[in-house]
Amino acid sequence: MSNDCLFCKIVAGTIPARTLFEDGSCVAFPDVHPQAPVHVLVVPKQHLVSLAETDREHTDLLGRLLAAAAEVARMQGLEKGYRVVINTGHDGGQTVGHLHLHVLGGRHMGWPPG
Ligand code: 5GP
Ligand code: ZN
Repeated sequence: MSNDCLFCKIVAGTIPARTLFEDGSCVAFPDVHPQAPVHVLVVPKQHLVSLAETDREHTDLLGRLLAAAAEVARMQGLEKGYRVVINTGHDGGQTVGHLHLHVLGGRHMGWPPG
Protein backbone atom coordinates (compact mmCIF):
# COMPACT_ATOMS: atom_id res chain seq x y z
CA MET A 1 0.00 0.00 0.00
CA SER A 2 1.22 3.46 -0.92
CA ASN A 3 -0.31 6.16 1.29
CA ASP A 4 -0.65 8.74 -1.49
CA CYS A 5 -1.94 6.37 -4.15
CA LEU A 6 -5.53 6.75 -5.37
CA PHE A 7 -6.02 3.10 -6.30
CA CYS A 8 -4.45 1.87 -3.03
CA LYS A 9 -7.07 3.99 -1.26
CA ILE A 10 -9.83 2.40 -3.37
CA VAL A 11 -8.42 -1.08 -2.61
CA ALA A 12 -8.36 -0.17 1.09
CA GLY A 13 -11.91 1.22 0.92
CA THR A 14 -10.97 4.74 2.05
CA ILE A 15 -12.11 6.09 -1.34
CA PRO A 16 -15.41 4.55 -2.43
CA ALA A 17 -15.84 2.55 -5.63
CA ARG A 18 -18.49 0.10 -6.76
CA THR A 19 -16.75 -3.27 -6.66
CA LEU A 20 -17.74 -5.44 -9.63
CA PHE A 21 -15.25 -8.25 -9.03
CA GLU A 22 -12.75 -9.11 -6.33
CA ASP A 23 -10.41 -11.99 -5.58
CA GLY A 24 -7.30 -12.36 -3.48
CA SER A 25 -5.14 -10.53 -6.00
CA CYS A 26 -7.23 -7.78 -7.51
CA VAL A 27 -10.36 -5.67 -7.50
CA ALA A 28 -12.43 -4.31 -10.42
CA PHE A 29 -14.62 -1.21 -10.43
CA PRO A 30 -16.11 1.19 -13.02
CA ASP A 31 -13.94 3.99 -14.37
CA VAL A 32 -15.18 7.36 -13.08
CA HIS A 33 -14.85 8.87 -16.60
CA PRO A 34 -16.01 6.05 -18.88
CA GLN A 35 -14.71 6.07 -22.47
CA ALA A 36 -17.18 3.38 -23.58
CA PRO A 37 -20.57 2.03 -22.42
CA VAL A 38 -18.60 -0.49 -20.33
CA HIS A 39 -15.34 0.80 -18.86
CA VAL A 40 -14.01 -1.15 -15.92
CA LEU A 41 -10.62 -0.91 -14.22
CA VAL A 42 -8.92 -4.05 -12.92
CA VAL A 43 -6.38 -3.18 -10.23
CA PRO A 44 -3.95 -5.41 -8.31
CA LYS A 45 -4.25 -5.14 -4.53
CA GLN A 46 -0.46 -4.93 -4.40
CA HIS A 47 0.93 -1.48 -5.20
CA LEU A 48 2.90 -1.66 -8.44
CA VAL A 49 3.48 1.62 -10.24
CA SER A 50 3.06 0.29 -13.78
CA LEU A 51 3.62 -2.65 -16.09
CA ALA A 52 7.16 -1.36 -16.55
CA GLU A 53 7.92 -2.23 -12.90
CA THR A 54 6.97 -5.88 -13.41
CA ASP A 55 9.17 -8.79 -14.42
CA ARG A 56 8.98 -12.58 -14.43
CA GLU A 57 8.42 -12.55 -10.65
CA HIS A 58 5.01 -11.06 -11.41
CA THR A 59 3.94 -13.66 -13.98
CA ASP A 60 1.35 -15.18 -11.66
CA LEU A 61 -0.17 -11.81 -10.73
CA LEU A 62 -0.24 -10.62 -14.34
CA GLY A 63 -2.01 -13.81 -15.35
CA ARG A 64 -4.56 -13.31 -12.59
CA LEU A 65 -5.19 -9.74 -13.75
CA LEU A 66 -5.87 -10.88 -17.33
CA ALA A 67 -8.13 -13.69 -16.10
CA ALA A 68 -9.99 -11.16 -13.95
CA ALA A 69 -10.41 -8.89 -17.00
CA ALA A 70 -11.95 -11.80 -18.92
CA GLU A 71 -14.23 -12.57 -15.96
CA VAL A 72 -15.34 -8.93 -15.77
CA ALA A 73 -16.06 -8.93 -19.51
CA ARG A 74 -18.22 -12.04 -19.14
CA MET A 75 -20.04 -10.51 -16.15
CA GLN A 76 -20.66 -7.34 -18.17
CA GLY A 77 -22.09 -9.32 -21.10
CA LEU A 78 -19.39 -8.32 -23.58
CA GLU A 79 -19.90 -11.42 -25.71
CA LYS A 80 -19.29 -9.44 -28.94
CA GLY A 81 -15.79 -8.56 -27.76
CA TYR A 82 -13.91 -5.93 -25.88
CA ARG A 83 -10.56 -4.17 -25.56
CA VAL A 84 -8.07 -4.50 -22.71
CA VAL A 85 -5.60 -1.62 -22.37
CA ILE A 86 -2.65 -1.07 -20.03
CA ASN A 87 -1.38 2.50 -20.34
CA THR A 88 2.22 2.52 -19.14
CA GLY A 89 4.26 5.52 -18.09
CA HIS A 90 4.24 9.07 -19.41
CA ASP A 91 4.36 8.26 -23.11
CA GLY A 92 1.77 5.51 -22.61
CA GLY A 93 -0.69 8.07 -21.27
CA GLN A 94 -0.78 6.63 -17.75
CA THR A 95 -2.27 9.12 -15.30
CA VAL A 96 -2.65 7.00 -12.14
CA GLY A 97 0.60 5.48 -10.87
CA HIS A 98 -0.80 2.11 -9.83
CA LEU A 99 -0.89 -0.66 -12.43
CA HIS A 100 -4.37 -1.16 -13.88
CA LEU A 101 -6.10 -2.75 -16.84
CA HIS A 102 -8.91 -0.98 -18.68
CA VAL A 103 -11.70 -3.26 -19.92
CA LEU A 104 -13.60 -1.36 -22.61
CA GLY A 105 -16.65 -2.52 -24.54
CA GLY A 106 -20.32 -2.21 -25.27
CA ARG A 107 -19.58 -0.62 -28.64
CA HIS A 108 -17.21 -1.33 -31.53
CA MET A 109 -13.79 -0.32 -30.19
CA GLY A 110 -11.83 -0.58 -33.44
CA TRP A 111 -11.55 1.56 -36.55
CA PRO A 112 -13.76 2.56 -38.24
CA PRO A 113 -16.11 3.19 -35.29
CA GLY A 114 -19.60 1.77 -35.29
P1 5GP B 1 -4.76 5.81 -16.93
O1 5GP B 1 -4.92 7.10 -17.67
O2 5GP B 1 -3.76 5.93 -15.81
O3 5GP B 1 -4.50 4.61 -17.81
O4 5GP B 1 -6.17 5.51 -16.28
C1 5GP B 1 -6.58 6.04 -15.08
C2 5GP B 1 -8.08 5.97 -15.07
O5 5GP B 1 -8.52 6.15 -13.74
C3 5GP B 1 -8.75 7.04 -15.92
O6 5GP B 1 -9.51 6.41 -16.95
C4 5GP B 1 -9.62 7.80 -14.92
O7 5GP B 1 -10.87 8.15 -15.46
C5 5GP B 1 -9.74 6.81 -13.78
N1 5GP B 1 -9.93 7.44 -12.48
C6 5GP B 1 -9.27 8.51 -11.98
N2 5GP B 1 -9.69 8.79 -10.73
C7 5GP B 1 -10.63 7.86 -10.42
C8 5GP B 1 -11.43 7.61 -9.26
O8 5GP B 1 -11.35 8.31 -8.24
N3 5GP B 1 -12.30 6.58 -9.31
C9 5GP B 1 -12.42 5.78 -10.42
N4 5GP B 1 -13.31 4.79 -10.37
N5 5GP B 1 -11.68 5.98 -11.54
C10 5GP B 1 -10.78 6.99 -11.55
ZN1 ZN C 1 -1.22 2.01 -5.23
